[in-house]
Amino acid sequence: MADRSPPQVRSALTGMAWPGLPSRHATYNLALLYQLEHSQWLPAEDMLHLQFRQINLLLRHALETVPYYRDRRQEWGIELDHAISPEEYCRRIPILTRAEVQELGDKLLSAEVPKLHGKSGSVFTSGSTGMPIKVIKTELTETLWNAFTARDHLWHRDPKLKLASIRPLSGNEANYPEGKVFENWGSMEALTFVTGESALLNIGTRIQDQVEWLQRFDPDYLLTYPGNVQAIAIYCERNRIRFPRLKQVHTVSDLLRPEVRRICREVLGVPVVDVYSGAEVGYIALQCPESENLHIQSESVFVEVLDENGNACQPGEVGAVVITPLHNFAMPLLRYSIGDFAEVGRCSCGRTLPVLRRIMGRTRSMVRLPNGDEFYASFQDLLTGFDMIRQFQILRSASEALEMKLVATRRLTDAEAGQLTKILQQRFRHSFAVTFSYHDEIPRSAGGKFEDYKDEAEPGS
Ligand SMILES: [Zn+2]
Repeated sequence: MADRSPPQVRSALTGMAWPGLPSRHATYNLALLYQLEHSQWLPAEDMLHLQFRQINLLLRHALETVPYYRDRRQEWGIELDHAISPEEYCRRIPILTRAEVQELGDKLLSAEVPKLHGKSGSVFTSGSTGMPIKVIKTELTETLWNAFTARDHLWHRDPKLKLASIRPLSGNEANYPEGKVFENWGSMEALTFVTGESALLNIGTRIQDQVEWLQRFDPDYLLTYPGNVQAIAIYCERNRIRFPRLKQVHTVSDLLRPEVRRICREVLGVPVVDVYSGAEVGYIALQCPESENLHIQSESVFVEVLDENGNACQPGEVGAVVITPLHNFAMPLLRYSIGDFAEVGRCSCGRTLPVLRRIMGRTRSMVRLPNGDEFYASFQDLLTGFDMIRQFQILRSASEALEMKLVATRRLTDAEAGQLTKILQQRFRHSFAVTFSYHDEIPRSAGGKFEDYKDEAEPGS
C-alpha cells in the first residue's frame, strides 16, 4: 500500500476542486477515518481505556432502558454510579447466546434510543448457525460500518481502479449478461473519494457466464463469496482462462478456507483479502495490509476469545468469539457469543489492534460420535500435501460412514486415498469407513452458504 498515491477526497462544493470539501455524511466518514488512522497504532492499554469509556455509556444505557438488562442489574450487582472495569465487566455480565437472543426478542430492545443515533431499522440474519435472529440497528451503526469499509479499502485497494462485485441480490437484479455498471464505487465510497468504475452481477449467474462477464468488465478487484471465487478459479483452471488486469480477490460473508487462497494465487495469480463480519454486529476484524492475519476492529467492537472455562485465550489457542458491539444503542448486545471459534495470533506489522490468526468456523460443525462425544472438527489444514483437491465437502452419510466429496484436478491414487482416510479418522477421532466421490462442483446450501461438514446421519441436524 505504500506505493499508492493517497486517495483523493471528492469535493461537493461548487468552485472548490481541491482540497476536497465533501458532503456532510462524507465528512462524518472522514472524521472517523482520521481517528482510525491513528488508533490502529495505539498502545493496547490506551485502546482498552477508550473502549471502556464507550462500554460504560452503552452499559448504563442498557441497564436503564432495555428490559432484559434492567431486570438483571441487581442480580449482577452493577452500580450505576461508578465506571465498570474490563475485569469487572467480564466477570459480572454473563455471556449472551444466539439462542437467548432468539428467545428474548423485544426484551433486548431499548425503550429510548438517543434521537441523534438516527432511525432504527431491522436486519434478519440466519448467520452461519441456521438460527435466524432479528437485530435492530441505527443510522449511527451504519455510519460506523461505512468508516470501517473505507478503512478496509484504504488498507488494501486503490479506489481509482475498477471494482467488480458478484453477490446475492434479490430476484432478477443485475442478472447476466449485463449485470449493472456504475461510473463509481457507489454508496459512501463515492461520496467520500474519487473512485473508478464498478460493476455488479447476481451471484445466481452460472459460473461460465460469471467468467465471461468478468472477462468483459476486466476489473482490478473482484469482491465475492469464497465458495463462488473458488468455483470461478476451478473453471478458469480447466479452461486456461486468466484475467490480466485482476489484482486482488476480496472475499466477504462465508468462512475463507486456505485452499481458496491457494487456488486464487495459483490459477488467478492474485492474493485474497478477507474480512470477518456479522450482520448483527458489523465488522469484527479486517485483514492486515501486510499479512493474512485479521486485526480486530477495536474501535467498533470489544472482542473476547474464550476457552471452555471462560478464560481469555493466548496466541496459538482457539476459543469461542464473544463480542460487544460498542455503538448499537437500539439493541445492546453485551458479551454476545456469535457462534464462531477463532485462533488468537500475533502480528509483526506494528498495528496494535489484536489479532485473530484464523476463524475456525461455526458451532454447527460440531461432530457427534457414535459414543455420544461431541467435538469441533477443524478442517482448515486438512489438505496439506493434497494440492490436487480444489474443493471438498465431508458428508456423514451414516452413523459409521463418511463420504468425502471432491472437486480435484485428478483422482487420488490408492496410497493417497489411504493416507487421507487415516487423516480423517484421526481428525474425527473415530475409525469411520471413508469413501471418496468426484464431482464437477459442490453446490452451496439453499441459504448460499457453503458447508464443509454435513451430518446426514444425525436426526434433526
Ligand atoms: Zn498486522
